[in-house]
Amino acid sequence: MKVLKFGGSSVANAANIEKVINIVFDQSATEKKLVVVSALGGVTDKLLQLAALASVADEGYKKVLEEIEQKHLELVRALLPIQQQSATLSLVKQQLNDLESVCDGVYLLKELSLRTQDKIVGYGELLSSLIIAAKFQTLGNQQLWVDSRNLIVTNSNHSSALVDFTITNERIVSWFKVNESNYYIAPGFIAANLAGHTTTLGRGGSDYTAAIYAGALDASTLEIWTDVSGMMTADPRMVSNAKPIAQISYQEAMELSHFGAKIIYPPTIQPVMLKNIPVWVKNTFEPEAHGTLIESRSSSTSEFIRGISSITSISLLSLEGSGMVGIPGFSKRLFESLANEQINVILITQSSSEHSICVGINEADTLKAKRAIDNAFSFEIQTGKVDPLIVETNLAIVALVGEQMKSHPGVSGKMFGSLGRNGINIRAIAQGSSEKNISAVIATKDVRKAINVLHEVFFETSYKQLNVFIAGAGNVGSKLLNQIMQQQEVLKEQLNLQLRVVGIANSKKALFAEQGIELNQWQSLLNDAPASTIMDFVQQIKDKNLRNSVFVDVTANESVASVYGNLLEKSISVVACNKIACSSDYAAYKRLKSLAREYNSLFLFETNVGAGLPVIGTLNDLLRSGDKINKIKAVLSGTLNYVFNHYDGTKPFAEIVRQAQTEGYTEPDPRLDLGGTDVMRKIMILAREAGQVLEMDQINNEYFLPASCFEGSVEDFYAEMANQEMHFKTLFEKASAENAKLKFVATYENGRAGVGLEHIPPTSDFYHLYGKDNLVLFYTDRYPEQPLVIKGAGAGADVTASGVFADIIRVARI
Ligand code: ADP
Ligand code: ASP
Ligand code: MG
Repeated sequence: MKVLKFGGSSVANAANIEKVINIVFDQSATEKKLVVVSALGGVTDKLLQLAALASVADEGYKKVLEEIEQKHLELVRALLPIQQQSATLSLVKQQLNDLESVCDGVYLLKELSLRTQDKIVGYGELLSSLIIAAKFQTLGNQQLWVDSRNLIVTNSNHSSALVDFTITNERIVSWFKVNESNYYIAPGFIAANLAGHTTTLGRGGSDYTAAIYAGALDASTLEIWTDVSGMMTADPRMVSNAKPIAQISYQEAMELSHFGAKIIYPPTIQPVMLKNIPVWVKNTFEPEAHGTLIESRSSSTSEFIRGISSITSISLLSLEGSGMVGIPGFSKRLFESLANEQINVILITQSSSEHSICVGINEADTLKAKRAIDNAFSFEIQTGKVDPLIVETNLAIVALVGEQMKSHPGVSGKMFGSLGRNGINIRAIAQGSSEKNISAVIATKDVRKAINVLHEVFFETSYKQLNVFIAGAGNVGSKLLNQIMQQQEVLKEQLNLQLRVVGIANSKKALFAEQGIELNQWQSLLNDAPASTIMDFVQQIKDKNLRNSVFVDVTANESVASVYGNLLEKSISVVACNKIACSSDYAAYKRLKSLAREYNSLFLFETNVGAGLPVIGTLNDLLRSGDKINKIKAVLSGTLNYVFNHYDGTKPFAEIVRQAQTEGYTEPDPRLDLGGTDVMRKIMILAREAGQVLEMDQINNEYFLPASCFEGSVEDFYAEMANQEMHFKTLFEKASAENAKLKFVATYENGRAGVGLEHIPPTSDFYHLYGKDNLVLFYTDRYPEQPLVIKGAGAGADVTASGVFADIIRVARI
């Protein structure tokens, strides 16, 4: 005998049932077959809705009944040849009339016991199995309809009744001995108690029905036919990269289903495992796909984690108190009080100090549990030995399952590390001593993210996904997006990195696409996107709660800089070319660095100094490897370098500044460059990174711009520069007289920093510095006389974008 079970979606309509027929009759004819079916997809839910409406005397139940009726009558008409429809139509009608009578009773009495609910909900499987049996008949096969209510005997725990296997097995064996046939068809889900009242085996229970028959009849195989190609590494509705598991052990399958993998109803494995019957999980809509074989051993040695599952709607109950330490019997009483209320305990942890016991239960049982436990410990609570029960709700469990994990150290470290890096707080942990499962209790809102993080870490060796949110779509932002677009494929191939730009915002609008924005048309998409402030943008990033998220600030905006802390403390890394955050007061800079450390995120700002040049990275490398920075001398303003390299007194100074601005080297307000503020910020950032506590007002600035230039608007500034042409000419001529060039130099030494215009002789490192190049000299213990030199373009949108890009990649590689 072979048992085949078809779920709700497999029998949802006539077209699907044709597929079922093909599967059943394509198989070898030498073996007898028992086909167990669920109700038509969605019908169980409708029947429950019907019962609930009738029980509150809501007339709406009639409409639902009508829908159920239509669905089944239509199926008969679509499935059976016209000449053979009438008998089945009247059989179905008769069942529906019975159902109506029961519902009318519920409606009149306004009363719905679980017993009556089982009666009502059981019609789903009765109807589907009768219709499919009629279809089998029309195909001319010898077949028998089996009434599961006569064979599967349960207790009276309606809606999730417990099976009496002794009587059930006996009844099944003797019925099948007497009733010989090649094909049998039975309703799943329903059974009866000894008094003959219909009971049900729990939602999803048709799998269990099939396993009960398979066990009793010593079936050669149990096949569970559903709508996915086997048990998968995670719920495919949560993880788009979930893969089918080719083979898995009974224990692992049981563990996965107990911890929420809906694909198999948890008790299903037990009866087949006892008889060592192999179970295949197959896809009705893709029968040629391999599917999953569940059997006694676990064949995979390479994949020691086999799957990830989750249960939502969990509450955590914590019993704490100093009076519990060293006194036996507390946990017994705790569990007894829960058992007396029929409350199922899903997870248990106890700290080794015995100071607290923590259990996870279904959220629906919370109130009942709190009452029962507070009651059981009322004396201890009154005398202060135990605190009133602490209840936390809106929680979920995520579980990693695999029999081989016990021989692989570091699994839990990897699990908790990756969750932590993604800002997912773990409320409780449990690892069974069998080590088939590690479970973590987390907030419900984090479940999708957690499962995706874990799936990526344990199953997707192929690539890691990075979710990027970019604030700023100007000069640097556009270049960055362009560079990302061009590199996406290379990153995937060479670094196994899938970089998705999920959000782009400018000062007015924000665009999102979770699967990644189409980068070849981001401008027009952003144009059409809804209005948004930076605060809205940040809120959405947090709400999306995607794993490996990075926020990229390519603005020069203060309000954007003010959101970093908000993101870092959600474990979202921040990459900024915006200098405002790092050059504001020291305490704010320090706070961001600490937040990043505390929440396992990165705060990177390499482009704050020298654009794409590796200045901050090099400084950090020197310090981390034990070197000491004694002095820094640097030309750090691409703009000033450009200006003084081009100015020789022939063309007005103002015009050269204008040219620098047009070519995109300057800050939006060029006075930030010309007045030295930008260089002050940069040397301060370097000094801070070298460990120095330093504020802007402690940096000495030898201004070369006349004070009048700082008044008014940017245009006033240009006009005033033109007025002051003589001043600039004199500066130039004084330097030329000494055969020197003018450079704006920043210096950091002995804890002090300063900036100012210097005369640079031909012997200096700075003399041959052309265009917009920057130059940084690090004098350190290891580079005492000949400094470590970093030189190259220190401004420009393209190089800045590439520096930002490199920081983004750094985030991906942690
Ligand atoms: P049926 O009606 O055939 O019994 P179910 O809806 O009960 O089907 O179970 C199949 C569904 O289980 C799949 O469509 C899938 O969405 C869900 N599911 C959850 N976890 C897993 C998993 N680990 N592997 C496969 N499917 C899963
Ligand atoms: N029809 C029942 C349910 O939806 C049983 C099953 O499909 O397995 O829960
Ligand atoms: Mg199911």
